[in-house]
Amino acid sequence: MNLTLHDTMTGEKRPFVPRDPKRVTMYVCGPTVYNYSHIGNFRPVVAFDLLYRVLRHIYGPEAVIYAANITDVDDKINAKAAAEGVPISVITDRYLEAYHADSAALGALPPTFEPRATQTIDAIQAMIGRLVHNNAAYAAEGHVLFNIEAYAGYGELSGRTLDDMIAGARVEVAPYKRHPADFVLWKPSKPGEPEWPSPWGAGRPGWHIECSAMIEQTLGLPIDIHGGGIDLVFPHHENERAQGLCADHAESYSNYWLHNGFLTFGEEKMSKSLGNVVLAHDLVTKVPGEAVRWALLSGHYRQPLDWTGELLEQARKALDRLYGALRRAGGLPRSPRR
Ligand SMILES: [Zn+2]
Repeated sequence: MNLTLHDTMTGEKRPFVPRDPKRVTMYVCGPTVYNYSHIGNFRPVVAFDLLYRVLRHIYGPEAVIYAANITDVDDKINAKAAAEGVPISVITDRYLEAYHADSAALGALPPTFEPRATQTIDAIQAMIGRLVHNNAAYAAEGHVLFNIEAYAGYGELSGRTLDDMIAGARVEVAPYKRHPADFVLWKPSKPGEPEWPSPWGAGRPGWHIECSAMIEQTLGLPIDIHGGGIDLVFPHHENERAQGLCADHAESYSNYWLHNGFLTFGEEKMSKSLGNVVLAHDLVTKVPGEAVRWALLSGHYRQPLDWTGELLEQARKALDRLYGALRRAGGLPRSPRR
């Protein structure tokens, strides 16, 4: 079976050729576990689960290694923990458990690896150390920043120039930055927030470095496929790529970049409609998870998908028809699995 994938980097469809068909690697950016996840956050979970299953079918289940991260330290998590007066692990364990349950309800296989940021601090610090050593990062006032001018290929993934990027991004101006687009690898924690000792002062990692360090630790560079939502192309994936390439002097970070489009909620106004149920956690109590999965897969993964009650109803009916046909063909379950 030949597989052709649309690659964001080249902007075209390319035949998929893994570096090693006995070890096919895929990484997808996962959730920040500070709340129940919006149904839109499950579009990549389901879309890349489908790709994972296709790859397992082609290359064999043992040959495909899939990693997806869990961001379990960040400002939103810290704020929620402070509001509830509990350690961040109480928040992250609660919402990670819900995320796992909801992913399972939507029929997504667990990834081979699911690294958590707080359990990857050593690898993150080792990578930051190599970036500093390679002059691709610098320490300033308790922060470590990626030196954007150290990498000439910055912007190649998103197709943006440095000027575009500064104009388009909400670049934080800070006196310790050499260039306005330099981004944080390590930063000091505020009083009461979790922190880890480091050669650059106690603090915690930035978000972008987490994925690069996890890819290196779980899969090794370069990987075959990197996936995520279209909103991650810039700056997150551009930054991930720059970090990975500069830390390891690698030639390639990911050989294929895949990005899914958003769910849209434009058309529907009726408050009783299922289309207004936006937390997957609530939705799977009202509609069989398999029907939600069908609805999420009903449009092309790169295109926007309008999320409505009608779409869910159609998905449920389509599944009912299939199960009806299967039942008539002989002895299958009476209703879709929840
Ligand atoms: Zn990521």
